[in-house]
Amino acid sequence: MKTLSILGSTGSIGKNTLEVISNHPDKFRVKALAARNNIKLLTEQINTFRPEVAALFDEESAKDLRKDFPDLKVLSGEEGLVEAATLDDVDMVVSAIVGSPGLAPTYAAVTAGKDIALATKEALVMAGKVIMSEASRNNVKIFPVDSEHSAVFQCLEGREMKDVKKIILTASGGAFLSKSASELGDVTPADALKHPNWDMGRKITIDSATLMNKGLEVIEAFWLFGLPLEKIGVIIHPQSIIHSMVEFIDGSVMAQLSLPDMKGPIAYALSYPDRFGDVLKPMDLAKIGKLTFEEPDMEKYRSLSLTFDALRAGGTMPCVLNAANEMAVAAFLEEKIGFTDIYRVISDTMDAHEVSGGDTIEEVIDASGWAMREANKIIKLS
Ligand code: NDP
Repeated sequence: MKTLSILGSTGSIGKNTLEVISNHPDKFRVKALAARNNIKLLTEQINTFRPEVAALFDEESAKDLRKDFPDLKVLSGEEGLVEAATLDDVDMVVSAIVGSPGLAPTYAAVTAGKDIALATKEALVMAGKVIMSEASRNNVKIFPVDSEHSAVFQCLEGREMKDVKKIILTASGGAFLSKSASELGDVTPADALKHPNWDMGRKITIDSATLMNKGLEVIEAFWLFGLPLEKIGVIIHPQSIIHSMVEFIDGSVMAQLSLPDMKGPIAYALSYPDRFGDVLKPMDLAKIGKLTFEEPDMEKYRSLSLTFDALRAGGTMPCVLNAANEMAVAAFLEEKIGFTDIYRVISDTMDAHEVSGGDTIEEVIDASGWAMREANKIIKLS
């Protein structure tokens, strides 16, 4: 029986995780659930999964939850999330809080020696160097939940990294694949939130439309698999059937395929090295008919070149890219800036940043705070 703490339980990944767990009550015990302020859904989850601990970032919501569950340990604020991520008898932490608020609890969990099922890619983008060195120091295993990294992880099983020529991350192309760069000026948040293949949270859906999600995944892959940028490729694959590929030095390419459903990678992260039965609907390739591929248009999807620039600059720059993106996406969703302004806000924030090493968690958090303020200044002037 594996004991879990699920951070971000009320989100898209959190809900899918609980669905996987509910099919295997003999294998998992939910010790803690954590979210920001969605007490309505958290209440349902508490009643179903009976955790001993709940944590809410929002203090007022935590107060309300305490009234409803006087016998439950209800934590609050960032300290509460950190405590939920480091509870003594937790074996694995599912890290699925969206964005930078996920960093502190994920880092704390790694420092406390907990294995991680990692959905919060932003934590690795912000602090990859620090998290990976803590993970190796504490013998922590990080299992990817992102479908692309799960695919690469599965293709790499039993192989040696010296035999890897390249990994190729697939991208659906998001909501605007069929639009040209010049048509993106007046698209709305509602347009951008219509993802063709995946049902996900709002931030990652916008990140998919800008292809920033793929850029963040390149950085995530850089840290998770320890590969240089030249060995990480991106290809557009609109059907989202091939979740990613590994090319080996002999020219052979391995791919992992399935219908797009996050329960697949989540279940594998939770069950590794075993596999659960009947997680995904069977795939009928004859019905799917065609799998197509194209090069990403780097002019249209400027996020990709920005992430490559950030990785080349190194140190705190990926963290600055991530923070500026979070601010820009929030401003776009609030209709304060246009879709293509997202790229400009990130690029101007990166231009204003003086890179430092990114060697400590404090330095990373400072850089992120600076970048959020800088990006917000740029947004206000827009
Ligand atoms: P959602 O927006 O659906 O859910 C976000 C979750 O984070 C909610 O539980 C939310 O709580 C919680 N949260 C937000 N802010 C805070 C905070 N300050 N403190 C504590 N909890 C907080 O996001 P997704 O599930 O789509 O994405 C989660 C992560 O997984 C992201 O990093 C994303 O990139 C990654 N991911 C998602 C995929 C997907 O298919 N959705 C695929 C691959 C990766 P509340 O409900 O109370 O606001």
